[in-house]
Amino acid sequence: MRRPVARKLSVLAVSAAVVSVGAAAPPAAPPTPPGKVPVAAGWGGAVASVDPDASAAGIEVLRNGGNAVDAAVATAAALGVTEPYSAGIGGGGYFVYYDARSRTVHTVDGRETAPLTADSGLFLENGKPIPFAEAVSSGLAVGTPGTPATWRTALDKWGSKRLGALLKPAVRLARDGFTVDPTFRAQTAANETRFRHFPDTAELFLPDGKLPVVGSTFKNPDLARTYEELARKGVGALYRGDLAEDIADTVNKPPVDPASGWNARPGDLSEKDLAAYRVRLQAPSRTSYRGLDVYSMAPSSSGGTTVGEALNILERTDLSKASQARYLHRYIEASRIAFADRGRWVGDPAFEDVPTKELLSQRYADSRACLIKDDAVLTSPLAPGDPRRPAACGTGGTAVPTTYEGEDTTHLTVADKWGNVVAYTLTIEQTGGSGITVPGRGFLLNNELTDFSFAPADPAVHDPNLPGPGKRPRSSMSPTIVLDRHDRPVVALGSPGGSTIITTVLQTLTGFLDRGLPLVDAIAAPRASQRNAAQTELEPGLYDSALRAELEGIGHSFRLNPEIGAATGVQRLPGGKWLAAAETVRRGGGSAMVVRPAFQPEAMSPR
Ligand code: GLU
Repeated sequence: MRRPVARKLSVLAVSAAVVSVGAAAPPAAPPTPPGKVPVAAGWGGAVASVDPDASAAGIEVLRNGGNAVDAAVATAAALGVTEPYSAGIGGGGYFVYYDARSRTVHTVDGRETAPLTADSGLFLENGKPIPFAEAVSSGLAVGTPGTPATWRTALDKWGSKRLGALLKPAVRLARDGFTVDPTFRAQTAANETRFRHFPDTAELFLPDGKLPVVGSTFKNPDLARTYEELARKGVGALYRGDLAEDIADTVNKPPVDPASGWNARPGDLSEKDLAAYRVRLQAPSRTSYRGLDVYSMAPSSSGGTTVGEALNILERTDLSKASQARYLHRYIEASRIAFADRGRWVGDPAFEDVPTKELLSQRYADSRACLIKDDAVLTSPLAPGDPRRPAACGTGGTAVPTTYEGEDTTHLTVADKWGNVVAYTLTIEQTGGSGITVPGRGFLLNNELTDFSFAPADPAVHDPNLPGPGKRPRSSMSPTIVLDRHDRPVVALGSPGGSTIITTVLQTLTGFLDRGLPLVDAIAAPRASQRNAAQTELEPGLYDSALRAELEGIGHSFRLNPEIGAATGVQRLPGGKWLAAAETVRRGGGSAMVVRPAFQPEAMSPR
């Protein structure tokens, strides 16, 4: 997608800051541009991400003897350079790790947290919710970043290399630059207006006041320096000291251009919040599905419980034999039901009594599955059930509509030669996060707190996702690892896409496990996304197909969504081989790589 370029192109870099730094420290010769393919198979480990520079960073680490955790951190750090609008050290995410030696799955919850002074009225003014777009580009939306602490925790527990060594490929990319591609330009263009409200953001991402030109080199020397500081001092440098002070100041007094007229509301994130930030280590969610175990993120993400409940609902139907229409019908209805329960029951478990175990029980899923009819469609918003008191065909209480979440984030999947696997989804929430860059530091701050409900949908019904002090907003991120009955990996995957993450992961899993699609085809398959709404979103491949009319015939209603998600995954093959898979087309295609490619990607069938 974006490659380091030949040095002659670097003269095209136009930002004054970039040029002066470039002149002071001439960049080393750029590495050979990595090729971009959506599927690769071979030995020595595998990396799949949305970007070839980032996948190459992970492969470089694996080749140098690093393990999957090391490679995941290197890949994530590189994505912070080449996908700065999707992820970075100003954001958070969820890291799921399979440890080959113990054959167990572990997670790191590196979700951003609300300031310790936040309460349920965080996004209310005069008792009314602030307009969503105004909240997004404000200090109010910024949660305490969790990504640096996630890297440190994962490396301390399971890594084998020093952070400094793992940041090297990313530092190189930030300093020497990468080639701007149409996606990067389009994402910048979509943000241009609000980026201009914040002069530091405009200076960084609109070099010379203009949109980055496709084919030009984009450098971020500020980020290179910030990464080097983390390499020298450890990631604690982001949570205490100068950098922490800069972050707190930026949130408290967003550096907005007064002439822009933008009301950049301040947030109350303090150095105390940064110093107090801790990741959570917690058990993964687990669902048995057709003899396999599906591990994912437990709350504060709703990913594991919602994908898991839907799988349990689907398990009673043999999807391998169903017609395509029946398969899609069942998948849509299972998603609808699982989203009804997600809205009512899932929030940050440190603040809410979340029935995680009950949501994942087969008994509960069976009680909900009986709502599904073959020749009719459930009505949304569908009321939730009560997982603690499963009642046959039960619904109860008031329906909670699914609120909007951003649709940009990034997911990477890594496996190493020892058989360890990482599925890691990270984000700054919207494309471009809050739009606020920490001056001189080269990264955007997240707007993750807008994932909270601004106000309860129904004042009479408890909303588990209202803001609170130090609380984590509910996520949909679903980094997932599937194990066989011997606790050995089968497949691992995940996707960006806000609440559509859940349906993308569910559809890709069923495509691969039930429908017999090779992983790359399961990822490429046109998507449908039903999130307890009157209409189901369809990508063009389904919207324009005969299946639409067939499904409308039994009562489905659809609307077009041009593109849903951007998944990546890895699959374990026999003989120590791995297959990496990414998007073929979405977001310009993703990047799958292995350390030592096999000539023929064989055994690409699912199981
Ligand atoms: N903020 C969303 C979540 O945590 C992710 C946003 C996205 O995927 O773009 O679920």
